[in-house]
Amino acid sequence: MRVLILGGSNEATQLAARLADDSAFQPVLSLAGRTRHPAPSPIPCRIGGFGGAIGLASYLRSQAIDVVIDATHPFAEQMSANAISAAGETQTPLVVFSRPPWMPGPGDRWVEFVSAEAAAQAIGATGRRVFLTVGRLQLPAFETAPQHDYLIRTIDPPEPKPNLPRYRVLLARGPFTIEDEVRLMRVEQTEVLVTKNSGGDSTRAKLDAARSLGLEVIMVRRPPPPDAPTLHALETVMSFLRARLHSAAP
Ligand code: NAP
Repeated sequence: MRVLILGGSNEATQLAARLADDSAFQPVLSLAGRTRHPAPSPIPCRIGGFGGAIGLASYLRSQAIDVVIDATHPFAEQMSANAISAAGETQTPLVVFSRPPWMPGPGDRWVEFVSAEAAAQAIGATGRRVFLTVGRLQLPAFETAPQHDYLIRTIDPPEPKPNLPRYRVLLARGPFTIEDEVRLMRVEQTEVLVTKNSGGDSTRAKLDAARSLGLEVIMVRRPPPPDAPTLHALETVMSFLRARLHSAAP
């Protein structure tokens, strides 16, 4: 069975690793090409856009893809919309594999906003020390709030460089521990954490650290979820794929 994994997330990496070990599947991982040094893929990998929903539909046909797993990051709204459209047009089964969003708990001081632009304005008029972990793609929104002192954590260096008078870049990839996050926020004298609701275990320690330090968290909400069946666990995705395999067997 030919499985296209739309990737760029930990979920896609996990699924690729699992399918690499199963000869019943012929998987291919698709990446947008945003990350400079993507982790080596254990399955065949293609890199770059398809050319919109039409291009993806044409790819699904030409490669005789049997199933699409949309395991893109929850903020990759365009790719998910294209996947729904292309899968509908070609009648290819599609499932979204996505981590649930983080939820605030007792002691959390979250304020939520629908966009990075709104989050930037919410930091306030007076300059504050901001720990900014919204990812490279969302940084331009913060150029409208140059009064703050930013510690920007990203995996790859921001390009172009942020047009901000006071910022430093910390290059790091999760997972992070609470202890390290608390230490970092103390050393940096962080006053507010600005992040987006990616979900997942790898980067949630910053939220626990902010809670333990009593810090405000400005959270960018997820876009509306894709209108397609959604699974949150690797095992349920594997069950879905095995069921399709058996239903397709002669
Ligand atoms: P996006 O806005 O939803 O997609 C923009 C375009 O990039 C798509 O229309 C498509 O181009 C191409 N694209 C996106 N994902 C692709 C994939 N897996 N394979 C091939 N082409 C892809 O996406 P984005 O927010 O820029 O994110 C780009 C990639 O980074 C995604 O794969 C996502 O999983 C990953 N990522 C995103 C975030 C985030 O916060 N947005 C965070 C971490 C990782 P065509 O129309 O030409 O096909």
